[in-house]
Amino acid sequence: MSNILLGCIADDFTGATDLANNLVRSGMRTVQTVGVPKDGSNAALKGEVHAVVVALKSRTTPSSQAVFESLEALKWLKSLGAKQIYFKYCSTFDSTKEGNIGPVTQALMEALHTDFTVVTPAFPDNGRTIFKGHLFVGDVLLADSSMRTHPLTPMTDSNLVRLMQSQFKGTVGLIDYKVVAQGEGALKQRIDLLRSQGVKAAVVDALSNEDLMVLGRAVKDLPLVSAGSGLAIGLAQNFGLKPTNPCANSPTNLPNPKGFKAVLSGSCSEMTLKQVQHFKGLGLPFFQLDPIKLSQSSSHIQSALEWAKNQFKQTPGPILIYSSCAPDEVRLIQRALSTSTSMSISNAGEIVENAMADIANGLTQMGVGQLLVAGGETSGKCVQALKISSLQIGPQIDPGVPWCYALGGTSKAPQNKPALNEGNLGIHMALKSGNFGREDFFSYAWTLLPH
Ligand code: ADP
Repeated sequence: MSNILLGCIADDFTGATDLANNLVRSGMRTVQTVGVPKDGSNAALKGEVHAVVVALKSRTTPSSQAVFESLEALKWLKSLGAKQIYFKYCSTFDSTKEGNIGPVTQALMEALHTDFTVVTPAFPDNGRTIFKGHLFVGDVLLADSSMRTHPLTPMTDSNLVRLMQSQFKGTVGLIDYKVVAQGEGALKQRIDLLRSQGVKAAVVDALSNEDLMVLGRAVKDLPLVSAGSGLAIGLAQNFGLKPTNPCANSPTNLPNPKGFKAVLSGSCSEMTLKQVQHFKGLGLPFFQLDPIKLSQSSSHIQSALEWAKNQFKQTPGPILIYSSCAPDEVRLIQRALSTSTSMSISNAGEIVENAMADIANGLTQMGVGQLLVAGGETSGKCVQALKISSLQIGPQIDPGVPWCYALGGTSKAPQNKPALNEGNLGIHMALKSGNFGREDFFSYAWTLLPH
């Protein structure tokens, strides 16, 4: 295997497939691994690979752990020859004042001996734009969007400079749209100026894909970029690579799907709630999980699995198992759990995530071979529980969400459960970030796989 060009570290699993999807579409042959392979091997990297995306679940873990895992990933990516490192986070930032983006960026900069990086979660294809350092989600500021009431990372400040500054020790600056509009040369000059003033990280405005192409060229020589998945479209050009023919992104590049179809939804984001309603409105089978029951006994998980088993006697799916509910209901549940069991908000999320992970395991053992998971943290837990070690990127369902072919790891699965690759089993998976995807996503996604 020759050296890779780009090494990427993603702070969650849906974000990793989102990034890998954009890299593939921009012309980079990309492999996504789940964490760093246990033995540090490069067995997943066959043939010519331009970019490797290491998916971590480090968005809401304690900072020290996020930093440790990110540095381990960096070490591995450098050993593969990566010329540039890309730290990927969510296009809605998903990181409060106590968040990990600042500490991880800082640690990566120190390890790479670099004194400057850019910060740009912009993803115009999904309506995430940055103007004067303020992040917009569609037509509204981040803090006025539904992200304001996210169960784990409520975003109440839209000013990325202020937000990043609260997490980052060095000075954070801004490169605004006027500079970006003047092109690559002006952007490079501004980077040099900010650097000479001691600024260590600059939020960069981006209103369109063209802005990201300009920024891509301007950051060619930076050892580290930090961004949402959007900037990925601007980096391939630096390595002389061109966007792939959309036909090359056809379903045929994944093996034929097998097995039952299921959707697991642990996202409480606005778009997911609409997708759940849409699925139910089609009269397709659904089962709602109750977090209070989950906190009391594992029998609720068994009930969900029994229900699924009965459904699959009548239909190949898709079926839906979900815990998604509106922000006020989430608050009531979090409050009920904190009074009855003195659990914190993250504990409440964990109960649901763990249940989803057990259900994902139960479903694959039941013969589910096509699994769609909604929710970043939720996807992370499911992918870990299924012992998935790498994901091959297939056709894009909607911006930021491709179908993937997930291959199991070689490590021993917990509780004597079989690892996914026993008998060379793979599974088709789509990992959807909360607010991504069209309203009929849960029924539409399957049409992109061969029947
Ligand atoms: P998104 O991509 O929309 O942010 P995530 O899966 O990352 O979705 O986060 C949603 C969080 O909310 C998870 O920790 C999940 O376990 C938790 N959650 C899901 N359903 C409920 C519920 N009914 N009550 C409380 N928390 C929930």
